[in-house]
Amino acid sequence: MLEQNTLGELKEGLLSEKIKLEKDIDKIAIKTDEGYKAKVEDLGREEDDNAEEMEKKEAAQGLIKVLSDNLNEVDEALERMEAGTYGHCANCDEEIPIERLRAYPAATSCVKCHE
Ligand SMILES: [Zn+2]
Repeated sequence: MLEQNTLGELKEGLLSEKIKLEKDIDKIAIKTDEGYKAKVEDLGREEDDNAEEMEKKEAAQGLIKVLSDNLNEVDEALERMEAGTYGHCANCDEEIPIERLRAYPAATSCVKCHE
């Protein structure tokens, strides 16, 4: 069982990670009903379909995917804290070692199951 102050520390880590991720996403994306959409600066040339803009959009979309996946993990970790299941492997239910949680507070599985 994790100690309350350790849990508090990890929670703080997760919350600041969440804020950072949201800020990063906010810089490059707009939240829509279907998820995040890349914000692409208007290059001031012709139509939206010019090649450079498409390329930028694709790169941004890839980055948004990575960031929003991370954000989901962080959100899930925070939810598990609320539910009291945080710190247990989602796969085998073993306790995740504190060193792993400190290195990666959003971890959902123990090292063994992760591999
Ligand atoms: Zn496991």
